[in-house]
Amino acid sequence: MGFEKFGRRSFTAMTKTAKFVDLLAEGKVEGSACKKCGAKFFPPRADCAACFSKEMDWYDVPKKGTLETFTTAQYAPFGFEADPPYTMGVVNFGEGPKLFARLAKDIKIEDIKIGMDVTVRPLKYEDGQISFEIIKA
Ligand SMILES: [Zn+2]
Repeated sequence: MGFEKFGRRSFTAMTKTAKFVDLLAEGKVEGSACKKCGAKFFPPRADCAACFSKEMDWYDVPKKGTLETFTTAQYAPFGFEADPPYTMGVVNFGEGPKLFARLAKDIKIEDIKIGMDVTVRPLKYEDGQISFEIIKA
């Protein structure tokens, strides 16, 4: 049974944004953009939160941004116990949505500075799961 059985109406959001994972697997980090009003979202949204349009398209996340803030987790929630310490940050691209993600493990904590140039890339875990991470630009 899938999420389509949840609630009183059938949710199509899961299928409309599933392409996000396919794009990551192809090496592309993309968000969604509203064809009607131009609002951009990351992570991608199935429908526009600004004008409620269902006409969405994909856009490439900018290649360069700056690290706006970060924090290092010394403890993790259930299911992530093996991961700490890890650092999470917010990337400001100067336009469009900001991006929240983990920083790549190969960036030393002492080298992380607010305002540093960063970008984002797809990440494949050893178990086949796919995500994205922040790296130095
Ligand atoms: Zn819109």
